[in-house]
Amino acid sequence: MTTTYLWTPPPVRSLPVRGRSERLPVNRLFFVGRNYHAHAVEMGRPVDKSVEVPFYFTKAPSTLVESGATVAYPPGTQDYQHEMELVLAIGTAGFRVSEADAPRLVYGYACGLDMTRRDLQLVAREKGRPWDLGKDVEQSSVVSEIVPMPQRVLREGALEMSVNGAVRQKSDLSKLIWDIPELIADLSRFYHLQPGDLVFTGTPEGVGPVQAGDRIEGRIEGVGSIVLHVGKAE
Ligand code: MN
Repeated sequence: MTTTYLWTPPPVRSLPVRGRSERLPVNRLFFVGRNYHAHAVEMGRPVDKSVEVPFYFTKAPSTLVESGATVAYPPGTQDYQHEMELVLAIGTAGFRVSEADAPRLVYGYACGLDMTRRDLQLVAREKGRPWDLGKDVEQSSVVSEIVPMPQRVLREGALEMSVNGAVRQKSDLSKLIWDIPELIADLSRFYHLQPGDLVFTGTPEGVGPVQAGDRIEGRIEGVGSIVLHVGKAE
Protein backbone atom coordinates (compact mmCIF):
# COMPACT_ATOMS: atom_id res chain seq x y z
CA MET A 1 0.00 0.00 0.00
CA THR A 2 1.26 3.47 -0.80
CA THR A 3 1.93 5.65 2.22
CA THR A 4 -0.03 8.87 2.20
CA TYR A 5 0.77 11.99 4.22
CA LEU A 6 -1.29 14.83 5.68
CA TRP A 7 0.78 17.28 3.66
CA THR A 8 3.64 17.10 1.21
CA PRO A 9 6.79 15.87 3.02
CA PRO A 10 9.95 18.00 2.76
CA PRO A 11 11.99 17.25 -0.35
CA VAL A 12 15.19 15.20 -0.24
CA ARG A 13 17.98 17.76 0.06
CA SER A 14 20.60 17.26 -2.61
CA LEU A 15 23.51 18.86 -4.43
CA PRO A 16 24.77 18.76 -8.01
CA VAL A 17 27.82 16.58 -8.70
CA ARG A 18 30.43 17.64 -11.25
CA GLY A 19 30.33 15.42 -14.32
CA ARG A 20 27.24 13.49 -13.23
CA SER A 21 23.56 13.85 -13.97
CA GLU A 22 22.64 12.25 -10.61
CA ARG A 23 22.54 14.55 -7.60
CA LEU A 24 24.11 13.72 -4.22
CA PRO A 25 21.38 13.17 -1.59
CA VAL A 26 22.40 14.94 1.62
CA ASN A 27 22.09 13.17 4.96
CA ARG A 28 23.53 15.18 7.88
CA LEU A 29 25.48 18.44 8.17
CA PHE A 30 28.42 18.37 10.60
CA PHE A 31 30.60 21.40 11.36
CA VAL A 32 34.04 21.43 12.94
CA GLY A 33 34.60 24.21 15.50
CA ARG A 34 38.05 25.81 15.62
CA ASN A 35 40.26 24.15 13.01
CA TYR A 36 42.67 26.92 11.93
CA HIS A 37 44.96 28.44 14.56
CA ALA A 38 44.58 32.04 13.35
CA HIS A 39 40.77 31.81 13.45
CA ALA A 40 40.86 30.22 16.92
CA VAL A 41 42.93 33.18 18.09
CA GLU A 42 40.61 35.77 16.49
CA MET A 43 37.71 34.10 18.33
CA GLY A 44 39.65 34.40 21.60
CA ARG A 45 40.01 30.63 22.06
CA PRO A 46 43.42 29.35 20.88
CA VAL A 47 43.79 25.62 20.29
CA ASP A 48 46.47 23.39 21.84
CA LYS A 49 46.24 20.21 19.79
CA SER A 50 48.42 18.30 22.27
CA VAL A 51 45.65 18.45 24.90
CA GLU A 52 42.47 19.18 22.90
CA VAL A 53 40.22 17.20 20.60
CA PRO A 54 38.00 18.59 17.80
CA PHE A 55 34.49 19.70 18.64
CA TYR A 56 31.44 19.74 16.43
CA PHE A 57 28.01 21.20 15.98
CA THR A 58 25.31 20.27 13.51
CA LYS A 59 22.75 22.07 11.43
CA ALA A 60 19.50 20.71 10.05
CA PRO A 61 19.79 19.54 6.41
CA SER A 62 16.89 21.92 5.71
CA THR A 63 19.37 24.81 6.12
CA LEU A 64 21.14 23.70 2.93
CA VAL A 65 21.33 26.21 0.07
CA GLU A 66 23.06 25.85 -3.28
CA SER A 67 25.77 28.16 -4.52
CA GLY A 68 24.35 31.00 -6.57
CA ALA A 69 21.34 31.54 -4.32
CA THR A 70 20.08 34.80 -2.88
CA VAL A 71 19.20 34.45 0.81
CA ALA A 72 17.36 36.99 2.95
CA TYR A 73 19.36 38.65 5.73
CA PRO A 74 18.16 36.47 8.64
CA PRO A 75 15.98 37.59 11.55
CA GLY A 76 17.22 38.14 15.10
CA THR A 77 20.75 39.32 14.34
CA GLN A 78 22.73 42.51 13.80
CA ASP A 79 25.90 40.58 12.96
CA TYR A 80 25.46 37.97 10.24
CA GLN A 81 28.91 36.65 9.33
CA HIS A 82 30.61 34.58 6.63
CA GLU A 83 32.78 31.52 7.27
CA MET A 84 34.34 30.03 4.14
CA GLU A 85 35.16 26.31 4.49
CA LEU A 86 36.20 23.14 2.69
CA VAL A 87 33.30 20.68 2.73
CA LEU A 88 33.98 16.94 2.80
CA ALA A 89 31.30 14.62 1.38
CA ILE A 90 31.15 11.13 2.87
CA GLY A 91 30.37 8.41 0.31
CA THR A 92 30.88 5.18 2.27
CA ALA A 93 29.53 4.25 5.70
CA GLY A 94 31.98 3.94 8.57
CA PHE A 95 32.04 3.67 12.37
CA ARG A 96 35.15 3.87 14.58
CA VAL A 97 37.44 3.99 11.55
CA SER A 98 41.18 4.43 11.95
CA GLU A 99 43.02 7.38 10.41
CA ALA A 100 44.70 4.94 8.00
CA ASP A 101 41.31 3.61 6.88
CA ALA A 102 39.56 7.02 6.84
CA PRO A 103 40.23 7.94 3.17
CA ARG A 104 37.98 5.02 2.16
CA LEU A 105 34.98 7.09 3.33
CA VAL A 106 35.72 10.10 1.10
CA TYR A 107 33.37 10.69 -1.84
CA GLY A 108 34.50 14.20 -2.73
CA TYR A 109 34.74 17.83 -1.75
CA ALA A 110 32.99 21.16 -2.21
CA CYS A 111 33.24 24.80 -1.21
CA GLY A 112 30.99 25.83 1.66
CA LEU A 113 29.83 28.85 3.62
CA ASP A 114 28.88 28.35 7.29
CA MET A 115 26.82 31.52 7.69
CA THR A 116 26.53 32.51 11.34
CA ARG A 117 24.52 34.86 13.56
CA ARG A 118 27.73 35.79 15.41
CA ASP A 119 26.07 37.96 18.05
CA LEU A 120 23.77 35.11 19.09
CA GLN A 121 26.57 32.51 18.91
CA LEU A 122 28.74 34.58 21.26
CA VAL A 123 25.89 35.13 23.74
CA ALA A 124 25.30 31.37 23.74
CA ARG A 125 29.02 30.68 24.16
CA GLU A 126 29.36 33.08 27.12
CA LYS A 127 26.25 31.74 28.85
CA GLY A 128 27.07 28.09 28.18
CA ARG A 129 23.92 27.66 26.08
CA PRO A 130 23.49 25.62 22.87
CA TRP A 131 24.66 27.32 19.67
CA ASP A 132 21.53 26.61 17.64
CA LEU A 133 20.23 30.17 17.40
CA GLY A 134 23.64 31.34 16.22
CA LYS A 135 24.41 28.49 13.87
CA ASP A 136 21.29 26.54 12.85
CA VAL A 137 20.04 29.46 10.78
CA GLU A 138 17.61 28.95 7.91
CA GLN A 139 19.47 29.00 4.56
CA SER A 140 22.85 29.23 6.31
CA SER A 141 24.60 26.09 4.96
CA VAL A 142 25.71 27.10 1.49
CA VAL A 143 27.45 24.47 -0.67
CA SER A 144 28.83 24.41 -4.22
CA GLU A 145 28.66 21.44 -6.57
CA ILE A 146 30.33 18.34 -5.15
CA VAL A 147 33.56 17.36 -6.90
CA PRO A 148 34.06 13.57 -6.86
CA MET A 149 37.51 12.59 -5.53
CA PRO A 150 36.92 9.08 -4.17
CA GLN A 151 39.25 8.07 -1.32
CA ARG A 152 41.38 11.16 -1.84
CA VAL A 153 42.78 13.25 1.01
CA LEU A 154 43.18 16.96 0.29
CA ARG A 155 46.18 18.24 2.21
CA GLU A 156 46.81 21.60 0.54
CA GLY A 157 45.18 24.17 -1.66
CA ALA A 158 44.61 27.91 -1.44
CA LEU A 159 41.30 29.02 0.04
CA GLU A 160 40.09 32.56 -0.55
CA MET A 161 36.84 34.48 -0.23
CA SER A 162 35.75 38.01 -0.88
CA VAL A 163 32.79 40.29 -0.24
CA ASN A 164 31.95 42.66 -3.11
CA GLY A 165 35.39 41.93 -4.58
CA ALA A 166 37.39 42.77 -1.41
CA VAL A 167 39.33 39.79 -0.03
CA ARG A 168 38.28 38.87 3.53
CA GLN A 169 39.55 35.32 4.10
CA LYS A 170 42.74 33.86 2.64
CA SER A 171 44.45 30.70 3.84
CA ASP A 172 45.46 27.21 2.79
CA LEU A 173 44.11 23.74 3.52
CA SER A 174 47.59 22.79 4.79
CA LYS A 175 46.79 24.91 7.87
CA LEU A 176 43.93 22.72 9.08
CA ILE A 177 44.66 21.79 12.71
CA TRP A 178 42.91 18.42 12.36
CA ASP A 179 43.27 17.10 8.81
CA ILE A 180 40.75 15.08 6.81
CA PRO A 181 41.72 11.57 8.10
CA GLU A 182 41.88 12.83 11.69
CA LEU A 183 38.43 14.42 11.40
CA ILE A 184 36.84 11.32 9.85
CA ALA A 185 38.40 9.04 12.47
CA ASP A 186 37.38 11.29 15.35
CA LEU A 187 33.82 12.01 14.16
CA SER A 188 33.27 8.29 13.55
CA ARG A 189 33.88 7.67 17.25
CA PHE A 190 30.57 9.42 17.91
CA TYR A 191 28.48 8.80 14.79
CA HIS A 192 27.90 6.01 12.31
CA LEU A 193 28.97 8.05 9.31
CA GLN A 194 26.71 7.58 6.31
CA PRO A 195 26.86 8.35 2.58
CA GLY A 196 25.59 11.89 2.13
CA ASP A 197 26.96 13.20 5.42
CA LEU A 198 28.72 16.50 4.81
CA VAL A 199 31.50 17.78 7.07
CA PHE A 200 32.27 21.52 7.04
CA THR A 201 35.92 21.39 8.08
CA GLY A 202 36.21 24.79 9.76
CA THR A 203 37.00 28.34 8.68
CA PRO A 204 40.28 30.25 8.62
CA GLU A 205 40.78 33.77 9.98
CA GLY A 206 39.10 36.84 8.53
CA VAL A 207 35.47 36.06 9.38
CA GLY A 208 33.31 39.15 9.34
CA PRO A 209 29.88 40.68 8.82
CA VAL A 210 27.84 40.87 5.65
CA GLN A 211 25.06 43.31 4.73
CA ALA A 212 21.98 43.17 2.54
CA GLY A 213 23.09 43.59 -1.06
CA ASP A 214 26.49 41.93 -0.57
CA ARG A 215 27.89 39.41 -3.02
CA ILE A 216 30.06 36.72 -1.39
CA GLU A 217 32.44 34.81 -3.60
CA GLY A 218 34.88 32.08 -2.58
CA ARG A 219 37.18 29.53 -4.14
CA ILE A 220 39.36 26.63 -3.11
CA GLU A 221 42.24 25.61 -5.34
CA GLY A 222 41.59 22.19 -6.87
CA VAL A 223 37.94 22.16 -5.77
CA GLY A 224 35.94 25.02 -7.24
CA SER A 225 34.07 28.16 -6.34
CA ILE A 226 30.96 29.36 -4.54
CA VAL A 227 28.74 32.44 -4.70
CA LEU A 228 26.09 33.78 -2.34
CA HIS A 229 23.99 36.92 -2.59
CA VAL A 230 22.64 38.44 0.62
CA GLY A 231 19.17 39.91 0.16
CA LYS A 232 17.12 42.29 2.27
CA ALA A 233 15.80 41.25 5.66
CA GLU A 234 12.25 39.94 5.60
MN1 MN B 1 32.33 27.24 10.69
